[in-house]
Amino acid sequence: MATVHNWQLGRKMDYPYLDSRPKKQFTAVFNTNRCIACQTCTMADKSTWTYSRGQEYMWWNNVETKPYGGYPQFWDQKILQILSDEGNNPMEWFTSSEDKDDKKAPYGYYGGDTIFELAKTKDLNQVAVGYIPEDKEWRFPNIYEDTAVSKKTNIETEPVKEYSQLPAHDRWFFYLQRICNHCTYPACVAACPRRAIYKRKEDGIVLIDQKRCRGYRKCVEQCPYKKPMYRGETRISEKCIACYPRVEGKDPVTKGRRMEARCMSACVGKIRLNGMLKGDPDNPDPKNPMDFLIRIQKVALPLYPQFGTEPNIYYIPPRWVPRAYLRQMFGPGVDEAIEKYSAPSREMLAVFQLFRTTQTMISRFEIEYGKKVYETRTNGKKFEVFDDTVIGYAEDDTELVRIKVEEPTWESSDKRMITY
Ligand code: SF4
Ligand code: SF4
Repeated sequence: MATVHNWQLGRKMDYPYLDSRPKKQFTAVFNTNRCIACQTCTMADKSTWTYSRGQEYMWWNNVETKPYGGYPQFWDQKILQILSDEGNNPMEWFTSSEDKDDKKAPYGYYGGDTIFELAKTKDLNQVAVGYIPEDKEWRFPNIYEDTAVSKKTNIETEPVKEYSQLPAHDRWFFYLQRICNHCTYPACVAACPRRAIYKRKEDGIVLIDQKRCRGYRKCVEQCPYKKPMYRGETRISEKCIACYPRVEGKDPVTKGRRMEARCMSACVGKIRLNGMLKGDPDNPDPKNPMDFLIRIQKVALPLYPQFGTEPNIYYIPPRWVPRAYLRQMFGPGVDEAIEKYSAPSREMLAVFQLFRTTQTMISRFEIEYGKKVYETRTNGKKFEVFDDTVIGYAEDDTELVRIKVEEPTWESSDKRMITY
């Protein structure tokens, strides 16, 4: 085992391979607050990559309703139970106000064992703890859709409340969008006895070499997110490939520039922004929208960082969900992220406008400042909106998009009015 630094855990950890971060890392920010679970992303991915025999059950992109939904069923509940190791591995975080701005530990320090460390602690003959889902657990990509959890009330003594209000609803659910996280320390790479899985140096995309894979399913077992899938027809495993030909700029539409993945560019709810994160976590680029949202503003958080794989898909947490549940899912940065999202800074509000405005990856943004158009109070604090203009640029500095915070409106002339 090598010792590597995991910035999401705020500490070093054990991993079978040496640290080898890509210069740029494929990444995305998903805004859970905006998702409508239309599954357009899911179908876009399915119709692009997984339409052949043996792939029927494969959903490389899926959107599940939390807390009950999951694909495969109960994937996160099961791995959390294994990781807690019957209470012997408290998944605790230690934070102090001094830690918070430390780039090496932006969320504080994770004190429990990761999936890799627990396998070592328990002296297992494998690199990470995990399990292979039963066939029946892959049956439904979207079971328990829109099923809410309710606060238990004793109807004998308490009146049943049929309303909810922020900051956390008593009755709640939310949509969790999931693809492979193209992790910095992928469990699938670590687990593969054939060394058939690799992480690309140029963009951090994790791929399975179909010629080397022998279908041992160690990746299926040890990826905590359950994103590699076994194909019975070919007897080898497959996974999300981050639409790498598009990311390489091979699609003629973007004229050689990096293009967003299919599930991202199809998103109807405009919840997804796909781009490249600067590889060096200690020196984020304040003009790169991904670095800005993830590492500088910390409004977008990793999914189950305690697993230890340093996942590279980030989530703006849902505002209405009880915080304890969210802290378990996204770590201790949840409260700060929700506070920032609820009353975004001038720059953040401008960057939010870039979501789903172009298929070409935006690598830099600039803001032209405009006049104040609105003022209110949110969570007891003044919140101002300015009609700023945000400009998105490609890697080669071509201007891709120019959009105002205040959406322009036009009033139809009276002649167009229909009168009865
Ligand atoms: S999410 Fe799973 S399959 Fe994807 S890179 Fe991470 S460990 Fe590998
Ligand atoms: S396309 Fe976008 S809004 Fe629709 S389910 Fe997917 S992530 Fe959600």
